Amino acid sequence: MNIQAIIKKAIKRLELEGKLLTPDFYAEAFCKEATKAGFAIEDCSKLEKFSATLNKEFQDELKKYHITNISELARFLISKLNRTNPSHCSNVLESQIMFTRRVLQVIEVLHNNEATELAKKSLELLSREPSLAEMEQFRQLWINFLTTYDDTFLQKLKALGDVDSGNLKKTVQNLNLTNLCDNPLNSLELSKIASLLVSSLTPSIASSVNEKIANISQKIKSNPELLHGTSIEAEIRSAIALRIALDKQSVKEMIESIDGVLDKLSLRLIEMIESSDNSTVEIQRIKKELESYNEKTITNFSVAHKKIYAIAIALEKNTQALASDLKKHSSEVNALSKKIEHLEQELQRARDESKEDFLTKIYNKRALDELMNIKEAEFERYGHNYTLVFLDLDHFKDVNDDYGHDAGDAVLFAFAKILKKEARAVDIVGRFGGEEFIAILGETDTKGGVIFAEKVRKKIKNTRLKYKENQIKLTVSCGVSDRKSNFSLQGLLKSADENLYKAKKEGRDRVVYK
Ligand code: GH3
Ligand code: MG
Ligand code: MG
Repeated sequence: MNIQAIIKKAIKRLELEGKLLTPDFYAEAFCKEATKAGFAIEDCSKLEKFSATLNKEFQDELKKYHITNISELARFLISKLNRTNPSHCSNVLESQIMFTRRVLQVIEVLHNNEATELAKKSLELLSREPSLAEMEQFRQLWINFLTTYDDTFLQKLKALGDVDSGNLKKTVQNLNLTNLCDNPLNSLELSKIASLLVSSLTPSIASSVNEKIANISQKIKSNPELLHGTSIEAEIRSAIALRIALDKQSVKEMIESIDGVLDKLSLRLIEMIESSDNSTVEIQRIKKELESYNEKTITNFSVAHKKIYAIAIALEKNTQALASDLKKHSSEVNALSKKIEHLEQELQRARDESKEDFLTKIYNKRALDELMNIKEAEFERYGHNYTLVFLDLDHFKDVNDDYGHDAGDAVLFAFAKILKKEARAVDIVGRFGGEEFIAILGETDTKGGVIFAEKVRKKIKNTRLKYKENQIKLTVSCGVSDRKSNFSLQGLLKSADENLYKAKKEGRDRVVYK
């Protein structure tokens, strides 16, 4: 049979099948006739050749969608290429948000009020699809918190016992509270203890606000003196019991809800092991509770349930083994834990004594406060005058907005370097917070301070700060004042700040000293 005969047969076939003479139908009919006649035409086996190069999953899909020719294959592949995978993205996003929430919940129960408040607000923010601007605002609040965080107040509790600012629970245990009656704390210290107590009353797992706990918290907060009395003790005790009950209730609810139950519970169990001596008892209790659930209710739940149960058993075995191991090696463990305690103290001391700003590597606020007090003492004793220069970068927010925060950070670092270079070896320069810097110039009056500030201002104005391929222009406003012209250090700070404010108001990029 020759090719003409096959063509004729193909046309005939279309007529018989009642199909139109379109290129696709014709090609299909032609290939069928050619195969029948024993011809191997390359065009007819193209589809099989292509499909053989695809993976199994695609090949199955080709069959499922009845792809019979090359143009259908092309359409199929294009649609594959266009398809993104939104469920993967949303899973990643969701797990990141879950993770952030978990971190915030941890911060929320730490001892710092400001962090707790910020964490609460951030959690609230995450619960309602925040705008980018809101996220940015909160990111900034966290930066500000980090640059101004000061935990020296914990050291003030020293008179009452061992203070370990890395471990609040231990600190509270170590406080010799019986001293309180003979040697009452002053109201400032009392109100700090009150706020620690209040934050420890807030349930760490249960999310709802409990009226009873809120009432007693409010009472202690507004009148810390109550802590001196004995009648409050029973109330605190019952609030603590309530807090525990609320947390327990939440754990139970978590078990009952399938979503996320696995990670929450396993975290909770691990926490228990790490934090409590009788964790075995706790785990056994949870195991019993788990056993009591009816496995047949929901299929998914029963899968989750089995896994949690397995975790509980594994952890229980673990703690038992650990406990006997610990007993065997208790003397070694004691020696080791003493060593660790010592190392922790060393680490804490190093942290407390840090005087360096983490970003710019010049003095931080803590150091600046200390050094200012030394200068003040020298002024009072020997009459040595000194000058403060407040420097605040102009429209710095725009740098962040235009080039990104990394660029902002790099600019702050570069500015600190210039400031340090322009200052004399005996001058003190540091970052007071955010984009605000201070220079403390010993044996210098306002006139000298203005000369220094002008030098820095001009240097900044004429320098292009390089960040990656960008050249960033920057100006700085300065407020100057010296100690002699003020009645106190407080007055001096206020006056330098007011002059800086004037410099901003009068158009920025200038030095104001009166
Ligand atoms: P002004 O001329 O009035 O001083 O305007 P400004 O934009 O400099 O002042 P504002 O106080 O409105 O904003 C300060 C900005 O500094 C906001 C914040 O994003 C930024 N900032 C503060 N600390 C840091 C930091 O550590 N890194 C970065 N990148 N930006 C910071
Ligand atoms: Mg500012
Ligand atoms: Mg500024």
